[in-house]
Amino acid sequence: MVEVSYVNELLETMAANRKVEKLLNQKSKIERELREVQEKCNHPRQTIKQVTLDVGCQTSTRWVCDECASVVGYPSEEELKKYLN
Ligand SMILES: [Zn+2]
Repeated sequence: MVEVSYVNELLETMAANRKVEKLLNQKSKIERELREVQEKCNHPRQTIKQVTLDVGCQTSTRWVCDECASVVGYPSEEELKKYLN
């Protein structure tokens, strides 16, 4: 009994890992495609938006390209005031 449940657990773990591996592969493929699109983009239209920063999921206000979602710059204080109002 103990051995059987151990084997089942192991199979589940392997399945989960394969799924994770597949997802990670897809993720890196998507990220690469995204980077290519963003590098080619001329960022023709930009909007001030709240973006999530990597560290601690903090949000910050940045100019973001409408076309490719790239962060293209920091808004000036005056632009920020307009955005907040
Ligand atoms: Zn763009």
